[in-house]
Amino acid sequence: MTKHQTRRNEVPRKSQKLSSQDKADIIQKWKEGEKQKVIAQLFHVSVPTISKVVRGARKKPQFEDRVEKGEGDCWLWTGALKAGYGQWRNKYAHRVSYEKFKGEIPENQQVCHTCDIPRCVNPEHLFLGTHAENMQDAHRKGRAFQLKSGGRLTDGQVQKIRVLAESTTQVELAEMFGTTQPNISSIINRKTWKHC
Ligand SMILES: [Zn+2]
Repeated sequence: MTKHQTRRNEVPRKSQKLSSQDKADIIQKWKEGEKQKVIAQLFHVSVPTISKVVRGARKKPQFEDRVEKGEGDCWLWTGALKAGYGQWRNKYAHRVSYEKFKGEIPENQQVCHTCDIPRCVNPEHLFLGTHAENMQDAHRKGRAFQLKSGGRLTDGQVQKIRVLAESTTQVELAEMFGTTQPNISSIINRKTWKHC
């Protein structure tokens, strides 16, 4: 029998050799109440291997585990960020939140923030708009897409920064609002934006 003819289930494998489909199947069987010993036989792996896969499933973080409902009514994303936006399993967290709580996002529509905080995933702060509308909205609010430099903050954002500063680091605030830490420091210490 050549290597190609070998049926994969006849070869004992280690956990890292299991495909993600195998792992999903194992977790499914385990959830249905199948004994780990039986699953191990089915997949031709050891019982500890099955235990490891199942353990991974048990502690898999949920969307809600990455949300901090702090002061104010923004739900701040505590997981990975990309350009200030929360990331959840290779998707934008605010989009996932919209789909989860409000419904499908039609094609060509973007999910925008009424609160101007990219990291916020409170569905009540999310609304649909086209890319053009979102750009207009951003310009109207004086924020041309959170550019690292030259991105201008609004009065509302500055006020929010000062509130959030009590429980958020300056580096995090800089990331959230698409600006730099020295800018945040100046805002908090009222060296800039003194009028609000
Ligand atoms: Zn918000």
